This record gives sequence, C-alpha cells and structure tokens, in this order.
Amino acid sequence: MNPAQTHGESRSAPTRASPYSCWVNTGLCSTPFGDFSLERVPVDRSGTLRAWDGADLLLLDAAASFGVTPSTRVLVIGDNFGALSVALAGASTWVLSDSIVAEHAIEENLSANRAKVRVGGVVQFISAAQPGPELAATIGAAVDLVVWNVGKSTDVTAHVASLLPSVSHGATVVFAAGMDKHLPPKTGDILRRHGQVTTHPGRKKAHLFELRAPAEATGLQPADPVVPDRVSIPEYDLHVSALPGVFSADRFDLGTRVLADLVADLDRLLPAAEQVVDLGCGTGVLGMLALRSLPQASVSFVDESTYAVASAEANVIANAGTLGPAALDRSSFIRSNVFDDTRLAEVDLVLCNPPFHHANAMNDQVAWQMFQQSRRVLRRGGELWVVANRHLGYHEKLARVYEATALMASHPKFVVIAARA
Ligand code: SAM
Repeated sequence: MNPAQTHGESRSAPTRASPYSCWVNTGLCSTPFGDFSLERVPVDRSGTLRAWDGADLLLLDAAASFGVTPSTRVLVIGDNFGALSVALAGASTWVLSDSIVAEHAIEENLSANRAKVRVGGVVQFISAAQPGPELAATIGAAVDLVVWNVGKSTDVTAHVASLLPSVSHGATVVFAAGMDKHLPPKTGDILRRHGQVTTHPGRKKAHLFELRAPAEATGLQPADPVVPDRVSIPEYDLHVSALPGVFSADRFDLGTRVLADLVADLDRLLPAAEQVVDLGCGTGVLGMLALRSLPQASVSFVDESTYAVASAEANVIANAGTLGPAALDRSSFIRSNVFDDTRLAEVDLVLCNPPFHHANAMNDQVAWQMFQQSRRVLRRGGELWVVANRHLGYHEKLARVYEATALMASHPKFVVIAARA
C-alpha cells in the first residue's frame, strides 16, 4: 500500500520609464526595493530565460508608488519564481499560489537573497484552491495591496478576481499586470466586474491595471469559469470536472485518450500491478481508469498544481460508483514537484502525459525530470508508460535511463512508450 499521504492542501502607478532594470546575463534584478539575484527553478539550461518579466517590473514600480512599509499587508499572486515575493518580503506578505514548483522557486530565491531582503518580512504561502471566505480566514485580516502577475488563463484570471473582494477593505489597491503576449484579452473586463479600473499605458511589453476596493461581481455570466466545467467521456463512463486552469478542463485531450485506451486494458496488460502513480494527473482520468481496471491496486494522483490535485480528488469522489471497490480508499492525492514531495517507492507502474512547457517557456525539462525520477521510484521491473507527440523523440531519451523500452501504441500524432526499470 502507499504511505498515507494527503493533498495539501486614487494613488496612481508610475507611467514614466522606470529607472530600474534587469540584467539578463547576471540574473540580477534591480527593483525599487533593492537588487536581487534570481534564478529560475528548475534552472534554465539554455541560460537565456530570466526569472522575472516586464510585468513583474511594472508591478514593483507600482508597489513602490503605493508606499509599501513593513506593516503593509500585501498579497502576491502569480509569482512564478520570486521576483515579487522577494522584493516585497519586507512587508507583511502572503503569496497565493497554485503551483508547488513556484513555491519552491520562491523559497530558494528568498533564501539566496536573505541578506538583502528588508528585515521584518514574513512570507506565507496560501492555497489558491480555497473559496474566498476560507482564504480570508487564512490571511486573518484584509490586505492593503494586491500585486498580481496575471497568467495566460482567462478562467484562472476570473477565478482569482472573484477571490479578491473577500480579502479586501475599502482602501485596498489591486495592481494586476501581464505580458502583452500572454495577457488574457478580457482581463480589463474581468477586473471591471469588481470595480473601477484604471488601465496604465503599456511598458516593457506589458500592461498594468489598477483596481480599487474590489467588490463582489454582479451579474456573472452563466458560462462563468468560476463554476467548474464538466466533461463527459461516454466511452469510459466518466464525468470529469476541473477547477480553472487545469489541463484539458473543457475537453478530453487526444494524447490522454491514446494512453487511456491502454490503461483501460491494464487488467490484461499488467494484472499484477498494485501500486500505480498518475504522474501529472491533471483531472485524474488516467488514474481513475487504473482504479477501475485493477480493483486490487492503489493509485497515487500526483501533480504540482493545487487545482489539479483538488480536481482529481473531486473526480474520484464523483465517479466512485463506477471505479471498483473502495476507490477513494485506494487513492491518495499528492501535491508534489514530480516525486520530490512524496515518499513513494517500489511503484509498479507510472502513467505519464508530460507537460511540454513550464512558466510560459516551452521545453522538455520537466518531462526529463519525470522520466529520471520515475526510474528512482519504480521497483525493479516496474514500468513507466509515457504518451507524447511522436516528433519529440522521447524513445531515445527513455532508452538512456531505462533497462528496456517498447512502443505500445502508435497514432499519427502520438506514441505511447513503455520503459522498464
Ligand atoms: N495526466 C493528465 C491528462 O492526461 O489529462 C494531465 C496531463 S498535462 C499534459 C501535464 C500535467 O503535469 C499537468 O496537470 C501539470 O500541472 C503537471 N505538471 C507540470 N509540471 C509538474 C511537476 N513539476 N510536477 C508534477 N506535475 C507537474
């Protein structure tokens, strides 16, 4: 059996050119709050990607114009590597985070800059998957300032915006910024549902919005993404809901489907498997099929995203009636950077549809990490099943770390490779 584990769980901003700059090659980020050395985590092997972006710099300029002091209650949202949290650690700072990878990066960068961070700072992580009132209770009192690097997802933007009124008072200022190439086109409209918004002129290929005293939205659209979507997968008799931003929240992914066909057949292909991991579980479709196909097996649903792990758990509960005996008791839900935050060992089978980007950068770094770490947690003879675009050439990569590899399924676009430890 798996070790018992549970899932986590109007002052106006400056519009002139900032005197502060960042030096790509040195990793030194110069901000109104000090100069900080910031690294991406995992470290960018190409050496070309920075651990911050233009939106972070706009936000820090805006925060400086607000006048942050050690007693200012600040909520940081969407900080990928720590640029915002490190610079604002001198205030009373909470960091709202979906990603455990981002939390690890922020912790590492905070620790690397400890000597430079102003004394008195407290940085506490809070989960993005809790409703507004719970969030307010965690923080304890309303915040004065919200500094939010808006990501790519319209759904997540709408969801996060809906949380803001619960943690705000009448004078709270929200600065929200994003890179022009990623910013959801409806960002201004979404923020305007919660109050008056000032849009500042673009700089550093980014835009900054300012919202004062966010209020509850009125007249939410029926299709508002704050309500989880439900996808039916009739061929597997599964009903899948997803919190905003979770992979394949609104459709059944084609790559997942190619691997799912094999997982549904596990009772024939690997009938003795007892410990299965759905690595990067998203909504948990693959793990649910494993629960059903192998009534004796326990399945660990592992993902770095709070939203994903919470969605997978909700889906196992919702589909429990069709997943075989004691499906929920046979499941564990773990928020982890690959296997870093788990105690899993002697695993029989890892199922994996790896991500191909991290923090807006396309690369196979996380996939490679997943292949290597799976090798370590598998028992001798255990298997990793990977579905991937055929052009990625993962077969060769897997052959470097595994005893044997085999092609299990071939589709015009995707392949499924089994790698034996
Ligand atoms: N297995 C699901 C499916 O097939 O529908 C989701 C696959 S999606 C391509 C990749 C998943 O990996 C995402 O849910 C993502 O959150 C997760 N992920 C990305 N980086 C991760 C990491 N470092 N550790 C664990 N999970 C990660």
